Amino acid sequence: MNILEVKNLNVGFNLSEGYRQAIYNVSFSLDKGEMLAIVGESGCGKTISTMSILQLLPESACVKSGEIIYNNENILSFNQKQMQKIRGKKIALIPQDPMTSLNPLYTIGNQLLEVIELHQGLKGQEAMDVAVKALERVKIPDAKEKMKAYPHEFSGGMKQRVIIAMALACNAEIIIADEPTTALDVTVQAQIMDILKEIKEKYNISIILITHDLGIVAQNADKIAVMYAGRIVEYAENKKLFENPEHPYTKALLNVILDINTKDVQTIEGHPPSITDDISGCPFHPRCSSCMDICTEIDPCLKYVQGSMVACHLYD
Ligand code: SF4
Repeated sequence: MNILEVKNLNVGFNLSEGYRQAIYNVSFSLDKGEMLAIVGESGCGKTISTMSILQLLPESACVKSGEIIYNNENILSFNQKQMQKIRGKKIALIPQDPMTSLNPLYTIGNQLLEVIELHQGLKGQEAMDVAVKALERVKIPDAKEKMKAYPHEFSGGMKQRVIIAMALACNAEIIIADEPTTALDVTVQAQIMDILKEIKEKYNISIILITHDLGIVAQNADKIAVMYAGRIVEYAENKKLFENPEHPYTKALLNVILDINTKDVQTIEGHPPSITDDISGCPFHPRCSSCMDICTEIDPCLKYVQGSMVACHLYD
């Protein structure tokens, strides 16, 4: 069942050099209990696309057009008061740095109880039980005791677990996890991903995972949107994308993983365009070994290719 649908989203920035578009006609959907990964290099638009869902864009950014349908309503048209009922309660954010969400001056328990009271209206022992249960669900040992701890007493991985517990305590339906494991070591990364996968399966929570790490995506995501220069260039089920990628950029990203596995580290030659560059044609053409004349003139649209959605003139 479809819980969220982003339709033809266009977002730009008002910069000193004028309006610059950052997100071009981005569309994707999320089913209940599904993990959608949005992947791509830094600056490709993954975070801007998802922050649009929560209306947490920087001041200079503006949504030019599009729809974000949640529970049959276009939440892009919601005002801040309406969004407060959704943000953190129905759609929760797990940021890269958990300290952007945790207050160092208050105990973990205080902070959990505050969100439970705010979003669920529970107080006293009832709220306490929900908080302890949420910490146990994310496998924090001695949950009751840990309620008294301050964030600095927790490791990076434990702080991320607390943020996930806050989402669970509010009965969030969707979690947006923005590079949630980037700052963690590999073993802790795997533990956090295991917890996200478990809550997705056990509680039917939908997850949007933003990452540049295709290794994590391969092991955890159900569906993948590959972004480049503010566009989705390939959109496919996990198995399809990893076994049979279609877009030259996806193929290049996968080659980078393969090379890392064989310890022969390579990167994709060249750099992605910046938002202020004037791009003509396919934005990947300066880096693409399959570039044709048409690629320098016309930006390809997404179309169905062998079970994937792909934006590339090779399939015209
Ligand atoms: Fe390469 Fe052309 Fe496809 Fe762009 S449209 S990815 S330049 S082949």
